[in-house]
Amino acid sequence: MVDLLKRTDFGASVNVKGWVRTRRGNKQVNFIALNDGSTIKSVQVVVDLAQFSEDVLKLVTTGACLSVNGLLVESPGQGQQAEIHAKEIEILGAADPATYPLQKKGHTLEYLREIAHLRPRTNTFGAVFRIRHHMSMAIHTFFHERGFFYFHTPIITASDCEGAGQMFQVTTLNLYDLKKDDQGSIDYSNDFYGRQASLTVSGQLEGELGAMALGSIYTFGPTFRAENSNTPRHLSEFWMIEPEVAFNEIEENMQLAEDFIKYCVQWALDHCKDDLDFLASMYDKELIERLNFVLANDFVRLTYTEGVSILEEAVKNGQSFEYPVFWGADLAAEHERYLVEKHFKRPVILTDYPKEIKSFYMKQNDDGKTVRGMDVLFPKIGEIIGGSQREEDLEKLTRRAEEMGVPTKDIWWYLETRKFGTAPHSGFGLGFERLILFVTGMANIRDVIPFPRTPRNADF
Ligand code: ATP
Ligand code: MN
Repeated sequence: MVDLLKRTDFGASVNVKGWVRTRRGNKQVNFIALNDGSTIKSVQVVVDLAQFSEDVLKLVTTGACLSVNGLLVESPGQGQQAEIHAKEIEILGAADPATYPLQKKGHTLEYLREIAHLRPRTNTFGAVFRIRHHMSMAIHTFFHERGFFYFHTPIITASDCEGAGQMFQVTTLNLYDLKKDDQGSIDYSNDFYGRQASLTVSGQLEGELGAMALGSIYTFGPTFRAENSNTPRHLSEFWMIEPEVAFNEIEENMQLAEDFIKYCVQWALDHCKDDLDFLASMYDKELIERLNFVLANDFVRLTYTEGVSILEEAVKNGQSFEYPVFWGADLAAEHERYLVEKHFKRPVILTDYPKEIKSFYMKQNDDGKTVRGMDVLFPKIGEIIGGSQREEDLEKLTRRAEEMGVPTKDIWWYLETRKFGTAPHSGFGLGFERLILFVTGMANIRDVIPFPRTPRNADF
């Protein structure tokens, strides 16, 4: 359809297949808007009712799937250059008007979540999922063009150093008949892997192994977090992109993050114009403006300490936050958004966080208090990227892991990268759905993945 709508060889015989969006007209002529999902635009099929039997016509209802043979004709109507004058209509699949749930336009997004098996057929979700595809292509192209290798890290993992408490366990043990030892602990020696295993919360540790051999790698895969966060920005199953680069220090890591996001945003403007225009008109009038704004402006870079000072100053001047701000506190989304939306009015990269609120593997600064972590903060989203320069010194890394209670014996293989040919290196994780939220202007993360997984919801 996307190609057909551009054709100008009027008079040609064509076939189109797709789903009926609407049917309207009078007693002589009907107009069917047929859509095959390849573009937000539907093709108009003009039907001279006298030429078709009532048996066929009565099945041409919203949601039905048709195959239409006809003539390509220059359209007199506005908004399309070609339409089809139907010669033959075959009903591939009828859709009972009494029970098809997508009869009328203007269903709420909440209602559409309850029919996630059909919502891809709406203009909104067609647009979002086409953009999602294009963003995947942008990501692979960006890294491939820069000499990065797509490195596949495991989804099942036996190291839980990152995600204590928020991992989904993977087991083949019979839960109705769990064997426990004298201490009452579960005996995993009979489990599938002979030990406790879980779904990954991040591919980073294995990604670092890749970078310490191939130089520049990225991962792009599903990630799981059993955190009970019922927010518009958290899923329990989401996709993450994690580049990891040998020899990069934190400054180069920040530049990579900025270039990467801008490349993806530019790609969307170049490849998804029709879908973006539709989403802008329906949900977010400032969408295109905001995308262009991100492209045109450098991201602000400042330290966590400077960021906290700005927030404390704001509180002094009457700004109120739900959560307190002070040096050492983990920033909440409200604080991040204040910096981005109110103070700087631009994307912000915060660096050098207190070591207590960051992971054991981040490179320690000489001040003994902060580590070389970085978060990229975006308007409407808050944190879109989290990353760091990694600690490459074996002794410092091991000491920090022990201080933080990370079981070092489980990650002996990770520590060996520092033992054999260690090197400075850096990387970050971008939440794919957070990027899609920003690019589409949608407000809830449940509406940018086809089948969202959230606490108490794994339907479809
Ligand atoms: P947040 O504070 O927003 O929960 P985080 O600090 O837990 O994020 P990281 O562990 O640094 O996030 O993960 C890297 C990136 O993955 C984040 O910047 C974000 O874009 C994305 N991300 C993290 N958790 C989720 C989630 N539950 N659902 C969707 N994306 C997520
Ligand atoms: Mn989180």
